[in-house]
Amino acid sequence: MIFDYPNRRKERRHGPAEYASYKSYRPWLRDEFDFRCVYCLKRETWGQVTGEFELDHFEPQSINPQRQRDYFNLLYSCRRCNSVKRDQTVGDPLRLLHSENVATLPDGSLQTQHVNSRRLILQLDLNSPRLNLWRVMWMRIVALAAERDADLHEQLVGFPNDVPDLSKLRPPTNNRKEGITESCFSRRQSGNLPKVY
Ligand SMILES: [Zn+2]
Repeated sequence: MIFDYPNRRKERRHGPAEYASYKSYRPWLRDEFDFRCVYCLKRETWGQVTGEFELDHFEPQSINPQRQRDYFNLLYSCRRCNSVKRDQTVGDPLRLLHSENVATLPDGSLQTQHVNSRRLILQLDLNSPRLNLWRVMWMRIVALAAERDADLHEQLVGFPNDVPDLSKLRPPTNNRKEGITESCFSRRQSGNLPKVY
């Protein structure tokens, strides 16, 4: 289901470091977060341009400038969520959303019994009527496509065509080089990337 938060591995698969600009981490973050917003799960493939997704500083730059170029402080976020978050200090979405804590109901709302997950949902306004309607709309579109148009379905919930070839990138250092073999590009090349996710 497109709005089920995945249970993520605790560890990130990539570990590039020491880029001069945090913007250089973009291809790594696209792959790390499966080309969708860490907060609301909006997918790149649903928008017009890839670049509209933003690199969110989990600890805001204004609060902790030392972590401005720290890969492990960066999250892949849609413009809506990044602009709602702004300089708020929030709980870690990888722990509070990407877990079994949160369920998406058929009416598009997010449900959780966990107080910290609920706080994060509130801070990011993830249960607004508009967002719930938006989830229902996409669930219906994807269900219709699954029923009637396999190509369209694959386009809506498959990986983008331009998954980055991370093996070609040269970050100053990379502490998790082995992660490249788990990247979408490598998995697509070896025939192990699922058609939809
Ligand atoms: Zn979002």
